[in-house]
This record gives sequence, structure tokens and C-alpha cells, in this order.
Amino acid sequence: MKDNATAESPELDCQMSDISRRHFLRQGIVLVAGMAFVSCNDSPLQPSNESPGKLLGNRPAKRVVIIGAGLSGLVAGYELAQAGHSVTILEARNRIGGRVLTLRAPFSDGHYAEAGAARIPPDHNLTLAYSDYFGLALVPFYPRSGSYVEFSDGSRTVVSANDFLENRPWPSAAKHKEFVKIRGGMERLPRAFADSLAGQIHLATPVVAIEQKAGGVVVVRAANGAEFSADRVLCTAPLPVLNLIHFTPALSSEKIAASNGGFNYRASTRVFAQFALRFWEGEQLNGWANTDWPEEMWHPSWDREGPRGVLLSYLRGSRAVELDQLSDDSRVEHVLSRWNSVFPGASGHLQHGASHSWALQKWSGGAYAAPTAAQDAALSSHIGTAEGRIHFAGDHASENRGWIQGALVSGLRAATEIHEADDSSQFSV
Ligand SMILES: Cc1cc2nc3c(=O)[nH]c(=O)nc-3n(C[C@H](O)[C@H](O)[C@H](O)COP(=O)(O)OP(=O)(O)OC[C@H]3O[C@@H](n4cnc5c(N)ncnc54)[C@H](O)[C@@H]3O)c2cc1C
Repeated sequence: MKDNATAESPELDCQMSDISRRHFLRQGIVLVAGMAFVSCNDSPLQPSNESPGKLLGNRPAKRVVIIGAGLSGLVAGYELAQAGHSVTILEARNRIGGRVLTLRAPFSDGHYAEAGAARIPPDHNLTLAYSDYFGLALVPFYPRSGSYVEFSDGSRTVVSANDFLENRPWPSAAKHKEFVKIRGGMERLPRAFADSLAGQIHLATPVVAIEQKAGGVVVVRAANGAEFSADRVLCTAPLPVLNLIHFTPALSSEKIAASNGGFNYRASTRVFAQFALRFWEGEQLNGWANTDWPEEMWHPSWDREGPRGVLLSYLRGSRAVELDQLSDDSRVEHVLSRWNSVFPGASGHLQHGASHSWALQKWSGGAYAAPTAAQDAALSSHIGTAEGRIHFAGDHASENRGWIQGALVSGLRAATEIHEADDSSQFSV
């Protein structure tokens, strides 16, 4: 189902880029102390070379080692390097991006689908501002044409695009029509940061130990035996995998509790299927649905040309855990048997499928933090607190858990702590 104005259209790019600029202006960028303040006013945004989280003031250069090349580590590394610090990023995986992962295989015709972060709400000012800063085009996340399907108690209700776009994905959210995505894939955002940090990111380098020595040096050890000395360390490992790092001296009891199952993480698994043709268009549908499994069904690259289409199923919580017990092929079959009721004929047009479980990912251990109220009250304020010369960031250490915005806010907060720290005084562990 193609819209008249597609994501390939320069008009739409221009229009959406304006939208991101307007968001940027309307929200203002009010960040933590020590960072740039961009005031909120109605005048057009002047082209600026200043990054949204620029660190202010000249400070003595520090050697900083960052654990994790997800967005919290990348934004911190980027701004610290811009401010003159010597930055090294150690990443366990053989790719950057962490929970931002745009899958291009096994799809053809340039189709792609997001395994992790996919949509940007209108009030996520930092996510929008950095996209704008790097010149990434923002386009609508939800298609403007074709009908949507609501599937409940075994029956389908067809919803017009207009009605659907005025609704919200969940009660407190913005309207569907206000969500955007990065044209060409969300991975373009981490890649933009990483391109500026060329040579400073070590992939396939899991950190296994961090030791704070008397005198102010922090030694970071990787699984391959390599050692890195730093004045300051930033750790962005998600909580379920923080306990794979041995800290000397030990972390606070709160961080130990949070990283040993004391701070719940939600499971999430996505199942993808490529179809030889967009058979749903025969019914004037756009391939998007909500089901009572519960499940969101997306046709993420709806704005690409060509007969083929890729649908994905976004499953969370117990549904995801249930699917995680199955093999990759069985997950696709399992989901497809339900999709036949939502989009009749799905099985007949399947070309190939894939799936991605975040709970089973060694370097994530879950999709995002979802603590109980008691866990939140007892541990949240400790999770992002620095311990000696080790700082902590990640979306789990923010108020925007489960969002790129949270990763960026926490990364900038930690970068500011490091930038402003006075390391001239005696340090004891
Ligand atoms: C299914 C799903 C859907 C989502 N949807 C959205 C969305 O629509 N919009 C949105 O804005 N956000 C969304 N998010 C959230 C967003 O992806 C995350 O909040 C954000 O990417 C987290 O960034 P981070 O840097 O905090 O953590 P991560 O991206 O997890 O980065 C941490 C990095 O640390 C590395 N690491 C871990 N341990 C070690 C170690 N010992 N040594 C070295 N490296 C290590 C990891 O490999 C990883 O690269 C979604 C997330 C998921 C999983």
C-alpha cells in the first residue's frame, strides 16, 4: 500500500524535517546543568553547528573509557570527544547500536525492519534534535492510507486510516499520526555518532573487570586480556548483564541487587515474515493491526516500492517468553497460523521469516527495565549514581526507560559529570 507522498518523496522529507524542527523549537532543549540550553521560542530554527548536548566550558582533558556502544555510550563518547577528552569505547558485540538494530537480512528489495527501537514520539526532544543535527530525515511511522485491522475475540474490525491516526497506541501516548521514524532505518542514528568516533570504538571487546586503583586510575580489563587505563569510566551495560563485570571495590548493595534480578526487565520478541506480494492490499488494508494476543502487527517498510512486503509481530511479556521457547522457524509458523485470521492468505504468500528475542540476547538480557513500584522506589535513585570514578548511564538510569530518549538523557548526564569532575584532588577508593 503506497501513499501518494512516500518516504522516498523529497516533499515529505522536507515536510517532516520541518516537523522535527518545530518539535525541537516547541519543546526547547532543557538539559542538565553544564550543557547547552536551547530556548523555546517561535522563531525559525537557525542552522547551527552546535550539538544539542554540547558540553560547556574548557576542562582539562581526561582519559575516558566507555563500556557499551549503544546510544547512551555513543552520545556520551561523542560529546566528551567534542569537548577535548580522550575517549575509548569498548563494545561486547561485533556491531554498534545495542538495542537499536535495523535488520536488512533476510529481506529483499531493500526492505528492512526494526528489531528494537522503531518509533519516536513527538515529545522526545533529544532524539528528534540529534536526528536533526545529523541531518537524518524523519518520516511518518504509521501509514497514512489503507485501513488498519483490530483483531479481538476471533473477529476483525477494519478501521480507517483517519480514525486510526487520531487514536493512540496506549492511553497516555501521543496520537499515532504524531510518531515518526528515521528514514532508511533507526540504525542511522547510532551510526552517525559512531562515524564521528572512528578508531575509538573497539568491537567484540566485552569488558570483564573494572578496578579502581588508589591514586585515581581505573583499569578496565576485556575478555581478550587487553587492559585500558582511564581517569573516568562510564558503564552503560544494561542491568541484567552488569553482573558479568567484576568490580573492585564491589558496587553498592543497591546496584548489586538491581543487577541480580532485583529490577525487572520486560521480555520482547519480534517475528518477521517477507511475503511475495502485499496480498492484504486486495482488501484495501495496509498490513497494520492490533490483536488481543496482545500483539502489534506492523508493515514497517510500507513506504518502499515493489510487490513484496514484510510484516512483523511485536510481542511483549509472557507472549514473548512463550515464543522464546521455540526455534526460529517454529516462532514464524506459530505467529503465521494466527496471522491467517488477521490477514487471510498469509501462509500462501510467505517467502521467509526470522525472529529476534531480546531476553535471549547475551548482552541485553531483556528488552527494557520495567520495575515494580517497590523496586522503583528502592533502587531507581541508586542506579545512575557514580561510584568513585565509575559513572553509570543507559535508559534504565533515566525516567524514559525503554526509549532512546532515556539513553540520550542519561548519557549526557553522565558525560556532564565526567566533564565537570575535578580530578586534581587526591582520590581514595
Ligand atoms: C523491542 C524494543 C522496542 C523498542 N522500541 C523503542 C522505540 O520504538 N522507540 C525508542 O525510542 N526506543 C525504543 N526502545 C528502547 C531503545 O532501543 C533503548 O532504550 C536504547 O537503545 C538503549 O540504549 P542504551 O545505550 O541505554 O543501551 P543498549 O542499547 O543496550 O547499549 C548497551 C551496550 O552495552 C554493550 N555491553 C553490555 N555489556 C557489555 C560489556 N560487559 N562489555 C562491553 N559492552 C557491553 C551492549 O552490547 C550494548 O551495545 C526499544 C527497545 C526494545 C528492546
